[in-house]
Amino acid sequence: MATHNLLLLPGDGIGPEVMAEVKRVIDFFNKTGPDRFTFEEGLVGGACYDAHKVSITDATMEKAKAADAVIFGSVGGPQWDKVPYDVRPEAGLLRLRKDLALYANLRPAVTYPALADASSLKRELVEGLDIMILRELTGGVYFGEPKTITDLGNGQKRAIDTQVYDTYEIERIGRVAFELARKRRNKVTSMEKRNVMKSGLLWNEVITALHAREFKDVTLEHQLADSGGMQLVRNPKQFDVIVTDNLFGDMLSDIAAMLTGSLGMLASASLGEVDPKTRKRKALYEPVHGSAPDIAGKGLANPIAMIASFGMALRYSFDMGKQADMIDAAIAATLDKGIRTGDIAAPGEKSVSTADMGSAILAEMEKLSA
Ligand code: NAD
Repeated sequence: MATHNLLLLPGDGIGPEVMAEVKRVIDFFNKTGPDRFTFEEGLVGGACYDAHKVSITDATMEKAKAADAVIFGSVGGPQWDKVPYDVRPEAGLLRLRKDLALYANLRPAVTYPALADASSLKRELVEGLDIMILRELTGGVYFGEPKTITDLGNGQKRAIDTQVYDTYEIERIGRVAFELARKRRNKVTSMEKRNVMKSGLLWNEVITALHAREFKDVTLEHQLADSGGMQLVRNPKQFDVIVTDNLFGDMLSDIAAMLTGSLGMLASASLGEVDPKTRKRKALYEPVHGSAPDIAGKGLANPIAMIASFGMALRYSFDMGKQADMIDAAIAATLDKGIRTGDIAAPGEKSVSTADMGSAILAEMEKLSA
C-alpha cells in the first residue's frame, strides 16, 4: 500500500476551518484505502508572522519541498495589513510557488447542475460546464526584467514591465495542457496575442510545433486572448482545456470562475517539474478564495473548494482518479439534496455550517464506497 506524505498549511481566517473538513476526508481514505496518507501541519501567512515574524519559516519550506503535496488553506486579514511588505501574509504563498517552481496553475471551472442558477450567465450556457484553465505561473510580464519606474525629470515618469517567454517555458506548460486534455475531452485551446505581441508569436509557434511533434491525437485550436475572453462568456462549453500565459491566465481564470457562481466552490492546483529520480511532481493544492475575514471563526465557510482541492491532489499527485471522482460525485449529490452553506444558499433558503457541509459530503462518500 502506498503512503503519501502531505504538508497541511491551513493559514488564516477560514483556512483552518475548511482544512478541518479535509482532515476528515483524509481520515476517510485512511480507513477505506487504497492508499494511506500521513500529514504534518505548519504555519503560514499571518499566523506564521505572529509566531515567527515571517510569513513562512525556512523549516516549513524544507518540509514543503520534502512533502508529496502541499495542501494550502488561505492567508491574510486586516490585522496584518500594516506588517512590512516582504513579510506580509501573501509573501508566504508566493515563496512556496517560487521555491517549488510551480509553473502550471490548473483552475477547473465546473458548474454543478444544482447551482447553475447562481451563475451570472443563463442556465443553459453553464449547466454541465466543465472546463480547465491552465495558466503559466512563473514567467511572463509579472516577473520579466526590466521592471522599473523611472523619473524622466520633466514631470513625467516611465513604467516598464517586460513580457518575456523562452521556448522551454512555453513547451513545458503546453505539454501539461495536452496531457490534461488526453484525460478529458481531448481538446486544447491556446490563447495569446500573436497579432500584436512577439511573445504571442513565439507562444503560437512553440505550441503548434509541440502538438505536431508529440500530441497529434489531441485537437488543437488557437484563439486571440481577447476574443477568447469573449467566447468564454458567450459559449463556454466549446472549451475543454485552455492554455495561456501568466497575465491572460490571471484574467481568463477569474472570468471562468464567475461562470460557476461562487468563490467557495473553486479549487486549484499548482504543479512543478517531475523529479527524474522519484517520478514525483512538486505540487500545491488550494482553494481560489481568500481568508474571508468577514465570516472567519463563525463556522459559516463553505468547505467545498478546499475539499475539491484535495480531490485534485488525489487526481494529479497520487493517481487516485477514482477516489477524486468519488469526491466530486459526493459534492454533486450533497448539492442535489439542497444542502447549502450561506454563500450558495438562495435568499430565504436554509443554510448549514462548515462542519455540517463536511458531514453531508462524507456521508455521500460513505454511500458511494459501500
Ligand atoms: P475572499 O475570497 O477572502 O472573500 C471574498 C468574499 O467571498 C467574502 O465575502 C467571503 O466571505 C466570501 N467567501 C470566500 N470564500 C468563502 C467560502 N469558502 N465560504 C463562504 N464564503 C466565502 O477575498 P477578499 O475578501 O478579497 O480577501 C480577504 C483576505 O484574503 C485578504 O487579506 C486577501 O489578501 C486574502 N486573500 C488570500 C488569498 C489566498 O490565500 N490565496 C486569495 C485571495 C485573497
